[in-house]
Amino acid sequence: MNLSRLCVHTITTKPLSIEDAAKLYSRENIAGITVWRDALEGRDIRATGDMIRAEGLEIVSLCRGGFFPQLTAGARKDAIDDNLKAIEEAAALGAPMIVLVCGAAPGQFLETSREQIREGIAAIEPYAKAAGIKLAIEPLHPMYADTRSAINTLAQANDLAEALHSPWVGVAVDVYHLWWDPTLEQEIKRCGSNLFAFHICDWRVPTRDILLDRGLMGEGCIPIAEIRGWVQETGFNGFDEVEIFSTEYWSGDQALFLQKIKQAYLNL
Ligand code: ZN
Repeated sequence: MNLSRLCVHTITTKPLSIEDAAKLYSRENIAGITVWRDALEGRDIRATGDMIRAEGLEIVSLCRGGFFPQLTAGARKDAIDDNLKAIEEAAALGAPMIVLVCGAAPGQFLETSREQIREGIAAIEPYAKAAGIKLAIEPLHPMYADTRSAINTLAQANDLAEALHSPWVGVAVDVYHLWWDPTLEQEIKRCGSNLFAFHICDWRVPTRDILLDRGLMGEGCIPIAEIRGWVQETGFNGFDEVEIFSTEYWSGDQALFLQKIKQAYLNL
């Protein structure tokens, strides 16, 4: 392992501004950065992309689009408009991909939400294609099926990507969401060239919060190296993206945290 494929999500070092994060990642020889949209608030997005590249970082993706399922047609249209805005932001930033947290609407069947997700992605795909931006469907752990995503397994994400049948639509594999799935190895193999992104962190034992207690690689029970091996067998040669939401780590020194991330990554 070396650092040449290591990417860090801005949310991982949430207390830092995008400017400070880019400087710190660059100083620590991290190769890639995935930018969360909240980090861009109030910024000139094009200039921020230039600033990031001037620090020597490769922009891996923009997080996040999605949230297509809504109970009314008007709200579904608003969701599509927000995704079109995300495509414009990704293009301005110089990000080649948007990660989709697809959404779910309590009050309707998950199957209905899935249908609305399919319609939503189909509606934005021509714009993504025109802008040269890939769309990565990220399945989320079923504990988030209430409001965050009706796409909860890699099989569902693969089904959807295959149904949409576009070189601009693929999937993101996040070990935190998928490690428990007994069909994970076969579904990763099924992805083939549809595998667009690989996110890593660990599942703490016991986990203290279902959203904000992700661990560093090696701190939990996920067989990350094994899953990474399956991902690489597909021919994937993109980044290993560290995405950690952690109240504990956010409360500490972020430079120190980044050192720990590097060490945990090199120990994989
Ligand atoms: Zn993720």
